[in-house]
Amino acid sequence: MSESQMIHYPQDEVHTFLLPVTIGCSHNACAFCSMYSGEKFSQVPLSRIESELKHGNSYTERVFLTGADPLVIGFQKMEHLLDLIRQYFPYCACVASYASIRSISRYSTEELSILHNKGLRELYIGFETGSDECLKLMNKGHTAAGAIREATKLNQAHLPFNTIIVYGIAGKGKSLENALATAEMINKFTTKRIITMSLTIFLGTKLNQMVKSGEFVPASNSERLIEVKTLLENLRPLAPTIFDTTHPTNILRIKGTLPQDKDQLIAEVEKRLL
Ligand code: SF4
Repeated sequence: MSESQMIHYPQDEVHTFLLPVTIGCSHNACAFCSMYSGEKFSQVPLSRIESELKHGNSYTERVFLTGADPLVIGFQKMEHLLDLIRQYFPYCACVASYASIRSISRYSTEELSILHNKGLRELYIGFETGSDECLKLMNKGHTAAGAIREATKLNQAHLPFNTIIVYGIAGKGKSLENALATAEMINKFTTKRIITMSLTIFLGTKLNQMVKSGEFVPASNSERLIEVKTLLENLRPLAPTIFDTTHPTNILRIKGTLPQDKDQLIAEVEKRLL
């Protein structure tokens, strides 16, 4: 397997049955991302997916769909895929997947609800930031208003999702406004978990070129910690929400549930700022 064909999945899905649905990324244009660079996007044929399921353990309880954004295959194929999973893995209680705001926008609330009822129970979505200026700079392909609209649809469909955000993504001097914009966005919907990452500049990315040309200046670690603290201070979750900074890119590893652990989480960040 070449590096470009590596399979990416969230750290919490390390023991989950991985089912390939797409290869590469249909967007493949985010300035900070090198995950699928050079890899041509394609959908895995349903015949191959069925063959993977046939050879799997019928007692499998959880499945993770692999690919940057499996929901891009559309409602009919997703529905068929979930029916196949139920057929071969009758004890499967949860199908999880990465998803993008762009792909979710192609589904109606009713369709999302049908997929939820057929077993799609957890999405991991790269919101990255609530700042439109930053989303544009990073060529993310969605706006904050679009993210709120699609997240609201997921809430109405009762389809749980994790909100992935990246601190440091706005660059030097912009951390506070980025934290405020991101908190404002997240406060508009209910999410199971907020998963944070710290911006990493990968070789070969557009962002790396922007750093070299001086167009983008990375924020310092202390500025990034203040961003995390500001985010925590301004989050007002509508329901208990896990705040999780345990992804390896983070400069601080903390995890707790908002709102009850808010003060303790802020105190942990402050300790690192001393
Ligand atoms: S961040 Fe996600 S959507 Fe953007 S290029 Fe990378 S894999 Fe594709």
